[in-house]
Amino acid sequence: MRLILLGPPGSGKGTQSNLLQDKFGIPKISTGDILRASVKDGTELGKKAKRFMDKGELVPDEVVICLIKERIVEPDCEAGYILDGFPRTIVQAEKLEETLAEMGQDIDSVIDLVVDRKELLIRLSGRRTCKNCGAMFHQTSHLPKVAGVCDACGGPLYQRPDDNEETIVKRLEVYSKETAPLREFYRKRGKLKTIQGRGGMDVIFAQLCKMVS
Ligand code: ADP
Ligand code: ZN
Repeated sequence: MRLILLGPPGSGKGTQSNLLQDKFGIPKISTGDILRASVKDGTELGKKAKRFMDKGELVPDEVVICLIKERIVEPDCEAGYILDGFPRTIVQAEKLEETLAEMGQDIDSVIDLVVDRKELLIRLSGRRTCKNCGAMFHQTSHLPKVAGVCDACGGPLYQRPDDNEETIVKRLEVYSKETAPLREFYRKRGKLKTIQGRGGMDVIFAQLCKMVS
């Protein structure tokens, strides 16, 4: 099973793809996570990517396309994978389609998580992320058991540098302009499925599972 999770920043792609990964035993591939790991490791790629990420801009297409091409040929991807945060531009979607065709593969479904802007702003500005495992919490709606500590792994929680108001607004703008057109791209290919991303994550996950299996 090969899935793409579409949806704006804060729509819950990360949360839902973690749940899918556990349920179906296929890896979640998040370009955001891969890029953040490179930033943390201080690699050349990380240094280059950080400049774009901190401003809420997209990292250049050729960089992320290259990352994805390397990742989907790993042995753990044989039974499928969940793409979270890729593709994010039409160019990325076209390249992915081309690469998969060469491999004799195709995407099964593209899930669009729909959440209104007001809710996205609340979610992102209060978000706290585990530095260690990427688990997500929220200042008011989903507090960890111990303040500042991840429930899942005990790692420290932090506010992502791009989760500040100014950068959030920029990321939402970039989403509308660059990524939202992918809905039409995948609708034309009969792959687009829409889910209302408001409500409990378990309810959304149940709907998602019904849609893909
Ligand atoms: P979110 O969806 O909450 O904005 P991500 O972790 O998916 O967060 O992405 C964080 C940042 O990483 C993006 O704002 C962008 O700078 C960069 N990034 C991630 N995926 C891509 C991609 N496919 N193309 C370009 N840039 C990307
Ligand atoms: Zn953690």
